[in-house]
Amino acid sequence: MHDAPPQPTIDCHTHVFCWGENPDDGYLSQKTRRAWLTRLIMYLTGLKHEAGDSISEKIRSRLLRQVRTSRLDAAVVLAQDAVYREDGSRNDDATHFYVSNDYVLQLAEECPQILAGCSINPVRRDALLELERCYAAGARLIKVHTAIQGVDPGLARFNSFYKLAAELGVVLMFHTGYEHSCTVISQQFTDPKRLERPLDFGGNVIAAHCGTCAFFDREDYYPNFVEMMHLYDNLYGDTAVMASSVRWTALKKLSLESDSLKSRILHGSDYPLPPGRLPYLKRTGLFPPERQNPLDLDLRIKQSFNFGPQYASRAAELLGLRAEEKTVTQPTTRFAATVGSAS
Ligand SMILES: [Zn+2]
Repeated sequence: MHDAPPQPTIDCHTHVFCWGENPDDGYLSQKTRRAWLTRLIMYLTGLKHEAGDSISEKIRSRLLRQVRTSRLDAAVVLAQDAVYREDGSRNDDATHFYVSNDYVLQLAEECPQILAGCSINPVRRDALLELERCYAAGARLIKVHTAIQGVDPGLARFNSFYKLAAELGVVLMFHTGYEHSCTVISQQFTDPKRLERPLDFGGNVIAAHCGTCAFFDREDYYPNFVEMMHLYDNLYGDTAVMASSVRWTALKKLSLESDSLKSRILHGSDYPLPPGRLPYLKRTGLFPPERQNPLDLDLRIKQSFNFGPQYASRAAELLGLRAEEKTVTQPTTRFAATVGSAS
C-alpha cells in the first residue's frame, strides 16, 4: 500500500501591486502612492534593489523570486477589482488600488507556483460574465474587498452572483475586519455577520483576516467571526495579516478556539506586508532561517500556534488541488506537475 502523497502547502492570500505605468494591468492612485504606509512597505521590502526598470517590474520580480524560493508549494496571488457606481459602471476616480484579473492570470501562467485569485466587485454590470471568464481561465478563488470596493455582502442584488459562484464551486473570499492600508468606503461592510447571504447559497466562503481589527480600532469584529463559524460549516477564516505587530494577540486568541473552528482556519500571509518579528521571538528564536523569505517567516510563525497538522494544506483541499492529479487543462495540473517534479 502506498501512502497518500502529501497535500501541497498553500498560502491562500498574497498580493501584487502595480504602480500604474500601464494602468490596464493595475495602478495605485496618487493618494495611495504618496501614503506613508505605501512608502513604508516599499522601504521594508527593499524594493529598490530588485531587478526591473519600473516599480511594477520590481514588485513583480520580487514576488516571483520569493514565491519560487519559498518552501510553499504555491501561493494564491490576488487581483483587486475597482470601485463601481450604483449603475454598475466603473469609477476610476474613486479607485485607489486596482490590479486586473488578467495580470494575476498571466502571473499564474508564467509561474506554476502561483495560483490566480481573481477579484470581482459584484456591483459591476458584467459581474456574472467576469466570474465565468475567470473560472474558465482557471481561477478557483474570487476576492471581494468589502471595505475598499464598497461592497455590502448582505445585499439581495448579489444573489445571482453568489448562486453562480456556488454552482461553479468557486470559493468567495471577503475582506473582514477594519482595513488600514488603503482608502475605505465603509468599515461596517467588513463585519463577518454580513456574510450570511453568500453563505446561505451553500458555496464555500473565506472570511479573510478572521474579522480581526487592530488594537486601536473602534470595534472588533472577531467575536462576530467566531459566532458565524459556529453557525456555518461552509465558512473558513484565513490568517492573513494576523502576524503583524498591531494584531499581536490575534493568533494566540484564535489558537484557543474549538477544534471544529480551527479545522477551518487556512494559511494566508497578506504578503508583501511583512510579519512582525518581535512578538514571536520566543517562538521562532532570534534568527530563524526562514527570515530570508517573508512568505516562509510568516508560515513559520503561524505553524508555531496550534492550528493542527493540516493547517498549511487546507486551502489546497478547498481549492480542489491534489498533488497526484495529472490532467493538463486545469491549474491543478501545472501545479501537480511542479509538486511531482519536486519529489
Ligand atoms: Zn490582503
